[in-house]
Amino acid sequence: MKRVYNFSAGPAVLPEEVLEQAAREMMSYGDSGMSVMEMSHRSAVYEGILNEAIADLRDLMGISDEYEVMFIQGGASTQFAMIPMNLMGKNGKADFINSGQWSKKAIAQAKAYGDVKVIASSEDKTFSYIPSWDSAEFRSDADYFYICSNNTIYGTRFTELPETGNVPLVADMSSCILSEPCDVNRYGLIFAGAQKNIGPAGVTVVIMRKSLITDSKEENSTVLKGTPIMLQYKTHADNNSMYNTPPTYGIYICGLVFKWLKKNGGLTAMAAVNQEKASILYEYLDESKMFHPTVSGADRSLMNVPFVTGDKDLDAKFVKEASAAGFVNLKGHRSVGGMRASIYNAMPTEGVKALVEFMKNFEAHQ
Ligand code: PMP
Repeated sequence: MKRVYNFSAGPAVLPEEVLEQAAREMMSYGDSGMSVMEMSHRSAVYEGILNEAIADLRDLMGISDEYEVMFIQGGASTQFAMIPMNLMGKNGKADFINSGQWSKKAIAQAKAYGDVKVIASSEDKTFSYIPSWDSAEFRSDADYFYICSNNTIYGTRFTELPETGNVPLVADMSSCILSEPCDVNRYGLIFAGAQKNIGPAGVTVVIMRKSLITDSKEENSTVLKGTPIMLQYKTHADNNSMYNTPPTYGIYICGLVFKWLKKNGGLTAMAAVNQEKASILYEYLDESKMFHPTVSGADRSLMNVPFVTGDKDLDAKFVKEASAAGFVNLKGHRSVGGMRASIYNAMPTEGVKALVEFMKNFEAHQ
């Protein structure tokens, strides 16, 4: 069996140890005599799997009891609607920083529910940087303040957080969660689609300050009238993510990834490895005469590294030859072109080193 180096932005590479364990447990999980896929979500065995996954995530990220951890379906995109539906019932206002396609989509969705103010945007330069913000523009009566922590398509990330005072900070961490330590207490709500740094598609992790979860039946609820039961955070919080059948197998794989992370030193160790991987690639891109990084300076993502040659045909030739050599999914997002190497937690350092060697060789032979 031949495994490739998979640089996909998501669904993305998973740790081989996790895949091997899942394979071993495919026919019978423990002595249950069945696959996790075949288990009732109400069984004691499955509840154990779910609760352990939550406990391990709490451990990894240092999530206190003031926060709820939920597994929700519908992808990260469903959060673009759930967030305003659950929080905008207070003052009907939210502030956003527009740092890419995914914040743009969240903005468009929130506009359906209330008054949205874009505090800063980097759209003028194809989102190739994180815009600076003027905190005098922040609205103190906003129901939340929204950022996308890591911009998967453009390869930028926030290294500093806006000081939002009493306004809850909401962050889309789909493409950077678990890549480095994170002070959860700074946030009102963190969400992430699992399919990049956590597990398979179909699971979205939501970490939410409990005091923000209100009951739509109560008068001072922040939940908008008419919000479907499945789209209310309270439904998921009250039922330990089991109001309905959760994505059982996906959550199990997420749990295995959490265990793998803990075994490998947790988020501090991950951050060191991720820094190393990213600098190997950026250092080469900075010196190459052929490949050019599209982001410079402190805003560079540790997870998604876009680059171009400046010649579309050469880009295509590179992607094709790289793929044939076992470096796959290097084509940039369809909206920006060029190349992008996504180097999530499960991409080993050897994978990045091998890619750089391949690029050097390619460059030398043009
Ligand atoms: N936010 C970010 C930062 C993303 O990268 C993506 C998907 N690539 C999404 C949101 C949307 O995720 P989903 O496809 O799970 O809705």
